[in-house]
Amino acid sequence: MVYNWIKSRLARHWAGPCPLCGARSDGGFCRDCLQDLPWLGPACRLCARPLPESAGPVCGPCLQCPPPFDRVRAPLAWRRPVDRLVHALKFHERLELAAPLAALWRPGPLPDALVPVPLHPARLRERGYNQAALLARAAGRRWGVPVLEPCIRTRPTPPQHRLDAAARRRNLDGAFACAPLPAGCRRLALVDDVMTTGTTLRVLARALRAQGAAYIEAWVVARV
Ligand SMILES: [Zn+2]
Ligand SMILES: [Zn+2]
Repeated sequence: MVYNWIKSRLARHWAGPCPLCGARSDGGFCRDCLQDLPWLGPACRLCARPLPESAGPVCGPCLQCPPPFDRVRAPLAWRRPVDRLVHALKFHERLELAAPLAALWRPGPLPDALVPVPLHPARLRERGYNQAALLARAAGRRWGVPVLEPCIRTRPTPPQHRLDAAARRRNLDGAFACAPLPAGCRRLALVDDVMTTGTTLRVLARALRAQGAAYIEAWVVARV
């Protein structure tokens, strides 16, 4: 029922104005606002960490310890107005923002399924929706890719941004359980709103690899 409500709200807003300036558009960002978005510049080929122009294709940390995902697709840098838009989608029920944000991804060969980063059921009840799932569904509709939710959060975890790197890993140890993947579903894209250190995406990618995923991308709207 919640999904139907979300679906009808999304449909109603699909042909709405540009989410930034209100100019008439097809529901996406108008051409001027699109140009002004803080597009991510040179970045690590694996983890999308911003790099200086002169750097090699892969960042130092990824060379030392390759991530369990194959690449990150992050169209934007975590700056104004992107932080504001993601915050509005996540905390202020601006569900209509999911479609224009999801339209910013430029996928290569399409994955077999999109897998949103799950919320713990208690937080899902509190918020009423999972913004990562909204982004995944919007991208799935756009690219004709099914959305799969094989993973659950088995315990609530304190927000990652309050913790240092070691505490982030400890915080997420055993926090997810993943069901076996359907046959023929081996190339996945994990979907989330923003990537900070990527600890959550790493933990989930490892759990999906353990279920037989052969190739994993992470699609995030913005990279910190
Ligand atoms: Zn605009
Ligand atoms: Zn990297």
